[in-house]
Amino acid sequence: MTDLAIPGLAYAEANWGRWIARCPAGLCTSAVQIRRWQQRFECAGPGSCGWTTQIVWPADPEGIEVLLAMRPDVHTRSWRPGETLQDLLHENAVHDVLPPGWLTESGCILETRGERVTAGQVLTALPEYRRREIGA
Ligand SMILES: [Zn+2]
Repeated sequence: MTDLAIPGLAYAEANWGRWIARCPAGLCTSAVQIRRWQQRFECAGPGSCGWTTQIVWPADPEGIEVLLAMRPDVHTRSWRPGETLQDLLHENAVHDVLPPGWLTESGCILETRGERVTAGQVLTALPEYRRREIGA
């Protein structure tokens, strides 16, 4: 993310193939698993502080999920705020986990606008409903 993190808000991040948010309260070290687009963070569970706040999501969680799902090792399916979709694509290419043909076929692999997938092979890998949404 290019913006500075706002203190007190929780930021969604992908961690080992699931979405989590770390508690933003002072010295609390808790993190909570969250559902995609969940808006409300509550620090709950053992050792938690009870902090509640808003969750800040990246512009395109589904685009992040599609790129991370290509990684066979779930422990590498992580994304932190500040990483771009192009960063994830680059890592996938370096580790040779892109679908067969993506690097050899001519044509665009990924185009983004405002950190949302707008074109390329990654767009076609997104679920059907999402393609309709973007085309609308
Ligand atoms: Zn907490």
